[in-house]
Amino acid sequence: MYLQEISGVLQGHEVKIKYDCEGGFDQCGQEKMIKLRYAEKNFKDNDGKHICRKCFLKYKNPMKKDEVKEKVKKTCVEKYGNSMPMNNKENIEKRKELFLEKVCNTISI
Ligand SMILES: [Zn+2]
Repeated sequence: MYLQEISGVLQGHEVKIKYDCEGGFDQCGQEKMIKLRYAEKNFKDNDGKHICRKCFLKYKNPMKKDEVKEKVKKTCVEKYGNSMPMNNKENIEKRKELFLEKVCNTISI
């Protein structure tokens, strides 16, 4: 949240904010002086909240999301493969495809 009036403050000037996050990191919930430019971006990117960098990286890192998705997909394939021991290859491939489509691909993290 902003701890001061920001109208009339130049983009390159620092404003006082307080981080709204509670991730347990050093800056969570702390007051800080940051440039208005960054404060506004942070505020906008987080739907009206100031989130410290560590929390931001923890919760919003797109690389991490991809990592998780890949991991989930892999687990799906492995589990599926193990659970279908007696089917012929074609059948397995078909079911695998359906399974991935239905379950894995609909997971939005
Ligand atoms: Zn934080």
